[in-house]
Amino acid sequence: MSATIIDGKAIAAGVRAQVAREVGEFVDRAGRPPGLATVLVGEDPASGVYVGGKQRACAEVGMRPLDERLPASATFEQVADRIQALNDDPAVSGVLLQLPLPTHLDGPSLTSLIDPRKDVDGLTPVNAGLLSLGQPGLRPCTPSGVMELLASVDATLEGAEAVVVGRSNLFGKPMAQLLLEANATVTVCHSRTRELREVCARADILIAAVGRPRLIGREFVKPGAIVIDVGMNRLEPKEAGTPHRGGHPLGHKQAASGLVGDVDFAAVSEVASAITPVPGGVGPMTIAMLLLNTVKAARAQAGLEVT
Ligand code: NAP
Repeated sequence: MSATIIDGKAIAAGVRAQVAREVGEFVDRAGRPPGLATVLVGEDPASGVYVGGKQRACAEVGMRPLDERLPASATFEQVADRIQALNDDPAVSGVLLQLPLPTHLDGPSLTSLIDPRKDVDGLTPVNAGLLSLGQPGLRPCTPSGVMELLASVDATLEGAEAVVVGRSNLFGKPMAQLLLEANATVTVCHSRTRELREVCARADILIAAVGRPRLIGREFVKPGAIVIDVGMNRLEPKEAGTPHRGGHPLGHKQAASGLVGDVDFAAVSEVASAITPVPGGVGPMTIAMLLLNTVKAARAQAGLEVT
């Protein structure tokens, strides 16, 4: 079998086009665009690149980006004050605190200061609680993006065996909740899971978010399963371009970017029915869903109906 490759870039482009239309409608009704504030503390180069991407994507769909920066030496109170000012600013619809923070700052405590109505990353205790209770709220972007990717291949989730490898608050736990909400039978694995390979091989839907290059090999995958690779691991380009079973066209793309997933793409694509590549799978969906959350938050704050 040769798996269908789920094209996250194309699906994300569709979501962005939808957001651009919704932004246009919002401007007509509210007289101003939704605003997305990103808060970056310090000079971490990777975080700078991520924030830049979010700012650009925001401007491209007609929203107002606000690029808030604090020095690496900023105190808890200084970051908290900045978040509070953004919470209070009616022109700001969404607030995103870029993680990780410098080590002297407590990320979860600062994240929890974001007004839940502006929490477009869906990571505050209020939104995590709403998700856990199955009530409406802002959902975390990467797991929501994965749900869109699954929908794009008409995955049957009801009654399906879904296995999520990784239990982070950022991804694994909310992913499991969304799958449960869709009536899948969900197993969450982590570093202490026994017989990881056997558990994964039961899955109709297998989702890997571990941060270990090519951990998920062919023998972890039931023939016909749908495999979603959330992992983003940066390797030396030479190493990245040597997939387990060489020769796949993705090889040169990985070699160029040095980016590989948690799944051995070349081997697993021989047994899965559908699979996401890295790069070009889950990654592009995260920003698209952030934009969608921002327009949703703006509508809710303006008292407009939320779809
Ligand atoms: P994380 O907080 O480090 O969590 C990793 C999870 O993997 C933990 O639950 C850990 O178990 C588990 N784990 C580690 N080694 C394992 C092993 N050998 N077997 C089974 N489970 C193992 O990471 P994260 O934030 O969830 O991110 C995971 C990956 O997804 C990273 O590569 C990250 O870059 C990527 N990511 C991508 C996007 C995107 O937009 N594409 C977004 C978010 C994350 P314990 O809990 O027991 O430690």
